[in-house]
Amino acid sequence: MTDGSPDPPVTRRHTALLVARATANAILWIGTWQGASWLLFANRAWSAPTSSHDPRQSTTNLVTPSMNTQDPYRLPSHVRPTHYDLRIEPDLTAHTFTGHEVITLTVIEPTSDILLNATELEISSAIVSAESHSPRAGAVEMDDEHQRCRITFPHVIPAGTWTLHLTFRGTLNDKLRGFYRSSYKDSQGVVHSLAATQFEATDARRAFPCWDEPQFKAVFAVTLVIDPSLTAISNTRVIEDRQEHGKRVVRFAESIRMSTYLVAFIVGQLVPTPPIMARQTPVRLWSVPGKQHLTAFGHEIAVYSLNFLAEYYDSPYPGDKLDLIAIPDFASGAMENLGAITFRETALLLDQRTATHAEQGRVADVVAHENAHMWFGDLVTMAWWNGLWLNEAFATFMEMLVVDAWKPEWERWTAFGIARAAALSVDGLLSTRPIEFPVRAPKEAEAMFDVLTYEKGASVLRMLEQHLGPTVFRDGVRHYLTAHAYGNAETTDLWVSLGQASKHDVPALMNEWIFSPGYPVLSLSVESSSTLTLRQHRFTYAEDTSTSSSPSVAPHWQIPIQLRIDTGQGTETRRLLLGDRESHIPLPQNWTSILANEGGHGFYRVRYSAELLARLQMRGLHTLDPVERFNLLNDTWASTVAGMVAPADYLALTEHFHGERDPHVWAVMLGSFSTMYQLLAEDDRPRLAALVRKRLATTFADLGWTPRADERELVKELRGDIIRALGTLGRDEAIQAQAAEAFRELQTQTRPIDPNVIPALVSILAFTGDEARYEDFAGRVRAATTPQEERRYLFSLAAFRQPALLERTLAKTLTDDVRTQDAPFLVSSLLHNVYIREKAWEFVKRNWERMDRLFPKSGLRRMCGGIVGLSTPDLERDVRQFFATRKIDLGGKSLQQYLEQLHIAVRFGERDREAIRTVLASKTH
Ligand SMILES: [Zn+2]
Repeated sequence: MTDGSPDPPVTRRHTALLVARATANAILWIGTWQGASWLLFANRAWSAPTSSHDPRQSTTNLVTPSMNTQDPYRLPSHVRPTHYDLRIEPDLTAHTFTGHEVITLTVIEPTSDILLNATELEISSAIVSAESHSPRAGAVEMDDEHQRCRITFPHVIPAGTWTLHLTFRGTLNDKLRGFYRSSYKDSQGVVHSLAATQFEATDARRAFPCWDEPQFKAVFAVTLVIDPSLTAISNTRVIEDRQEHGKRVVRFAESIRMSTYLVAFIVGQLVPTPPIMARQTPVRLWSVPGKQHLTAFGHEIAVYSLNFLAEYYDSPYPGDKLDLIAIPDFASGAMENLGAITFRETALLLDQRTATHAEQGRVADVVAHENAHMWFGDLVTMAWWNGLWLNEAFATFMEMLVVDAWKPEWERWTAFGIARAAALSVDGLLSTRPIEFPVRAPKEAEAMFDVLTYEKGASVLRMLEQHLGPTVFRDGVRHYLTAHAYGNAETTDLWVSLGQASKHDVPALMNEWIFSPGYPVLSLSVESSSTLTLRQHRFTYAEDTSTSSSPSVAPHWQIPIQLRIDTGQGTETRRLLLGDRESHIPLPQNWTSILANEGGHGFYRVRYSAELLARLQMRGLHTLDPVERFNLLNDTWASTVAGMVAPADYLALTEHFHGERDPHVWAVMLGSFSTMYQLLAEDDRPRLAALVRKRLATTFADLGWTPRADERELVKELRGDIIRALGTLGRDEAIQAQAAEAFRELQTQTRPIDPNVIPALVSILAFTGDEARYEDFAGRVRAATTPQEERRYLFSLAAFRQPALLERTLAKTLTDDVRTQDAPFLVSSLLHNVYIREKAWEFVKRNWERMDRLFPKSGLRRMCGGIVGLSTPDLERDVRQFFATRKIDLGGKSLQQYLEQLHIAVRFGERDREAIRTVLASKTH
């Protein structure tokens, strides 16, 4: 699955991430980007949360037959499904569906009852039969709390093969999960309905009674009975399509053996592209009518990535066709149903002539990510949700690999620095969790879809891949997929395969990274002129923990380190594995500077002694790779938020980035300025704006408004970021006037404007806009011709500064004007906007029940990430009180993490506001 946050590449899965890409793309600087920004670069350290479950002792997650129902969220496995014959008939007018299924069961131990998952379904009949036995009807008892049902039979069912026949009905809900309804307006304004599924993590049970745990893999044969005017799509190709009693009956081929959460059916007036073959597999894109012209880009990366992945995995695509389907209402970004991948429209469809670099990157990433899952996730699946990281971290890692191979000039691994930074930020909290973490209830499974699973997971895989070597790593992955094809696996299984391929002790290397919370900061100093001292301790925002933890209990990691040592004669690279808390390395006599984490692949921070930092600056920061500059700036900013570096020193460091040309490095700097904008009073912001203009001047003078011939896409992207920053944070009146003029000329088509600059224009015009502008932009949401344009104008409505206008946006979030897939993110943006955040918070409190009822659960959780923007002591108090009084649980550690991030932001402001004001007031910055 991919996260649904409305912002493009890199940063879609977590509110923390909204930041970075908000810059590259759309919207509101002073909204989303700004509030979340500190997050991105912040960090922490306390004692590790204790967990009663230590996966290292490992505990398999496969349920043994005799295990019974100790845990009400797990099914016993003395009865196991092997095959589902599933017939579903949706009614798109009445918003209901009926279903009938025949499940082939292996009964391992004699039993008089069968327990399986079902919720919000009405089961009218349950009968078991077998060849040598007469059919037996069972009594159905629903357990709503644990989302399961028990079917009790009057006599014991002997061991053997049985079939269970179930008849049921349900509602096509509007909650974007299970089997749900979506709608869209055609060009005449007529509303059409469609029905789609979203089952991960635990919502297949809302569409048909089933063994809804990833380890109960089975073969699925789906039949959809639909209105003849509609089309049906499922995981496999159509093997029969006939009319019956005025209905169209579409029967699909049997699937591979797979988990329930990967089953999909979509019914509506959908239109396919002609197929393109990727080896033996026909690949098609589907959309609602009128959007077929937006499919070419997604189609290209879909075919490219499928070919790349089959080669990388050395394994053919496991399905018989691949459809990628854009759904108008979709809670997450995309979902890897085998052979029938579903997407929100912004993640699949775009117009290449008008899409920005970031928007193209978003589509490429998501498509590659989902395709990577066809093997890693679908063919081989985690045994239980604690192992979700295996799926998601790996797909995230592969998405980088694929897109990097497809468009090397996009420098995908440098852009990944932003994702890694977001993970470092959350993983620096006391309330972080290990990548692999115990899961019981569905809510806990849902909460696993976070920055730690995806971004930290992918970061440590990248670190491991670089340490073992890409070819050896790939061979280990191939071994793993072959060994567990059509089955389930645990983290330890991956280590076994990688260990076989590499001859390394992979568990020793990786266990701390996967099973412990947090990560190290590496301190470097030269204590005699010829010895480098490296020390590791856990990084935290709280205080310098190098001395606070007792050495015997403090966690420490096996850290693969790549050191670059400059000497008078040249440069040498040293690779080492730091397993001790402290290590001393002899240096060549004539060393001049030292860089740790060369290439930037390590998941740790670096703190240089004053001498080492000065030497790097003498070498010239421009001589470092972009990702190395990124890390230096990002680590320093994190230490500033943590109170270990003075704001004056951080701001002095930013002076060295005059003329910086990498958009990712700028993302760090602009994010930090944005955080300062938020913590300063309005009276002080003009001084910050002056500093921003000063920092940006050289780069803007270099870039100007218009791309040069043959300019790289990353430079085009940067131009948009710089212009946006000048016009909003920098309050540059000349830029604001030019932006207004450029926007006018864009409308009259009198001057071509580079697509990458257009989102910046929209941001600036919103920032400086009045009611007429607001009306204009609101109209453009409705009239938009691409999903990206619609999103851009929608989110601009949260980026104005006039409270009266922003209140109108707030009100819209609870109306049909805004789809529920977008509304929570819009609210989150408003919570981050300093010109409305108090009122936005009052609005959330007042409408909590309604939002809870209306918004998808995952969206509600993301919305709550917006509270991090409420960074004043009074608001923090109120926020804490609200969540405590209401006893709100967002699942997992989400709420604790948001509250802690909020606290760190408040503390940063209280501690350093005056210091920042002092720097801004001085003439020398
Ligand atoms: Zn995924």
